[in-house]
Amino acid sequence: MTSPTSTAVCADSDPVLILLQETFGHRGFRGAQREIVDHVIGGGDALVLMPTGGGKSLCYQVPALMRDGTAVVVSPLIALMQDQVAALTQVGVRAAFLNSSLSAQQAYRVEQDLMRGDLDLLYVAPERLTTTRCLELLSSVKISLFAIDEAHCVSQWGHDFRPEYLQLSLLHERFADVPRIALTATADPQTRAEIITRLSLGGARIFVSSFDRPNIRFSIIDKADARAQLLRFIKNEHEGDAGIVYCLSRKRVEETAQWLKEHGIAALPYHAGMDSARRNAHQAKFQRDEGIVIVATIAFGMGIDKPDVRFVAHLDLPKSIEGYYQETGRAGRDGLPADAWMTYGLGDVVQQRRMIESSEGSEAYKRLSGAKLNSLLGLCESAQCRRVQLLAYFGESSTPCGNCDNCLTPPQTWDATVAARQALSAIYRTEQRFGVMHLIDVLRGKDNERMVSWNHHQLSVYGIGKDTSEAEWRNVFRQLVAMGYASVDQTAYGALKLTELARPVLRGEQSVQLRRTVKAKSKAPKGPRSRPLVDRIMSLVATGHLARLKAWRLEEAQRQGVPAFVIFHDATLTEIAQREPREPAALSDIAGIGKRKMEQYGAAIIALLAGT
Ligand code: ADP
Ligand code: ZN
Repeated sequence: MTSPTSTAVCADSDPVLILLQETFGHRGFRGAQREIVDHVIGGGDALVLMPTGGGKSLCYQVPALMRDGTAVVVSPLIALMQDQVAALTQVGVRAAFLNSSLSAQQAYRVEQDLMRGDLDLLYVAPERLTTTRCLELLSSVKISLFAIDEAHCVSQWGHDFRPEYLQLSLLHERFADVPRIALTATADPQTRAEIITRLSLGGARIFVSSFDRPNIRFSIIDKADARAQLLRFIKNEHEGDAGIVYCLSRKRVEETAQWLKEHGIAALPYHAGMDSARRNAHQAKFQRDEGIVIVATIAFGMGIDKPDVRFVAHLDLPKSIEGYYQETGRAGRDGLPADAWMTYGLGDVVQQRRMIESSEGSEAYKRLSGAKLNSLLGLCESAQCRRVQLLAYFGESSTPCGNCDNCLTPPQTWDATVAARQALSAIYRTEQRFGVMHLIDVLRGKDNERMVSWNHHQLSVYGIGKDTSEAEWRNVFRQLVAMGYASVDQTAYGALKLTELARPVLRGEQSVQLRRTVKAKSKAPKGPRSRPLVDRIMSLVATGHLARLKAWRLEEAQRQGVPAFVIFHDATLTEIAQREPREPAALSDIAGIGKRKMEQYGAAIIALLAGT
């Protein structure tokens, strides 16, 4: 898809643009791509910060083809390298990889190609690149540039840390004249600083793109029965679509995958506790097949380069906004509409706080983790545009997006000062020894044995909140805990305790605003909405074309042993289906079809559309 910021100018006299159109089939550059490409072609070093799906690969692939010699791309994941090389080969670029998946003989052949100058791009795993043998090999050939992908792997603070990345500063020492371009989707200033120092990129120009992903719709809903909510969401919005469901624990991953399967969803589990053969098989199936839902811990993610993931769902709360944004960013890389959906409840707050408390980390680490969690809770509890807040967290200002739950169905906020005071005083009167369920029973004046045995039916707070529903009270308590007015004591069966912040509220010196639950839709919308999302935006005829094009693509992909999206992206097939081109030449206007693909597949597509 062409983004609105694409610069489509006459390509006649611009060799870079001709290359982009003829080889990659794109109409123009996106955002800062052109500037970055020109800078690297000119021999400059660059640090590129761009969100997932922003189009980082082109930033080094185009200069690789414009400059003399072979570009060396450092990439941390084998699966990713294979797909990138397959995609480049499809468009006629001479690319190969060197990693542990190759036999000695295969590696030897790649090395021979390199020495003959027959490679435009060579992808290398970091542990191989830093061997003496590999460095000597590279010293003997002409290198056009070094690209360091997923550069945040150099950061010891991040969960993607790869020790071999620390040695990559030697590239600067050994190949001082070769431009280097480091790329990452991790935006925080701390990681950025670490990349610059550790990769000796002090002199590099830094390109920071907007981190907005306008095609992703963010929704965070109140947790009731998480699994049922998830199933409803998938059935209503994403039947037949590929998606990722994140859970915190391995057990929950297994249970959720099993449960979805029992309810007719093609779901597969993925977590670090599975044996690696099964895990890899699931990842490969997700990557290559259509419409698989992978249920995973955060062990799953980096290196997933699948462009048509239509939703990312969180059943448990992530640790931070960085984590949330990175995980949700795996949706909709192809630029088509996608959902980031999360259910969130009091249990999540309690669980994350407990994990921080019981972690082995230093006090400073716990403080930092606590602050990061609080920022995320702020996002969950907010009634404002989610995107505005996400982007603000990364230092970007924006206006309400119109494509998040809070923009689409603005939640009401209400003056909850009285309710908050009642809830906090229920905690106080019951001596900070009881959990939420009991406190709600007290407030609602429940007539049960526990009330009598603790003498709680005698308290001044007994029954003062009987006009408020149980669900609404749960909401109030959750928000009070999330906002820090109360905390949950793990050592005392989840008893709620007051914090310092509660004092002014109890004294009536401070007002409290809370958000009102927006009722989750309980019934599945009927008809066309239950079809896969991509199909929904098309006419009936086009939908028929698309189905046939997809079947053809699948066959072609299987024949060549590559993922389907390497042949064509969904966006490209969708455009073909809608435009119904009658001759091959008309295909060249469609985004994602360059010269090579037109030669290779043009006739087959036209014949397919004509029904011959
Ligand atoms: P990233 O590595 O930043 O996540 P990719 O390089 O994988 O992103 O690109 C994401 C998607 O955007 C890919 O499907 C790619 O083909 C597409 N894309 C990148 N640049 C352009 C462009 N200038 N015009 C059209 N599509 C583009
Ligand atoms: Zn919004």
